[in-house]
Amino acid sequence: MNRQLNILVDVQNKELTLRDAEDTERAKEFEALGFKMDPEKIRGEIAKLIEEVDPKHRGYYLRLKKKYSDPVVPVRDGHCTGCYANVPTSFTSVMNENKVQNCESCGRIIFQI
Ligand SMILES: [Zn+2]
Repeated sequence: MNRQLNILVDVQNKELTLRDAEDTERAKEFEALGFKMDPEKIRGEIAKLIEEVDPKHRGYYLRLKKKYSDPVVPVRDGHCTGCYANVPTSFTSVMNENKVQNCESCGRIIFQI
């Protein structure tokens, strides 16, 4: 996977964890399972990761985040899992391998799993 895309997926995962960490009830459940839920630490990790993202992708990601809770989604069976629209076959072409691509229908950043 494209490194930029990799970081964006990481950022999104950490933001989901952060949401749980900030929810006192959820955080208690996770801590009972042995996970350390430290919102400050997670926020720091997100800030560090997002700095590694190319400014143009970072800006796009931050705009998407205002619209969707899942701005980065996998493509499954040729469909965007955010809006279920068809993703053109060019998505998986070698030419596009190293590009950060987005769904033509909903705009979410998409990746192949
Ligand atoms: Zn979509």
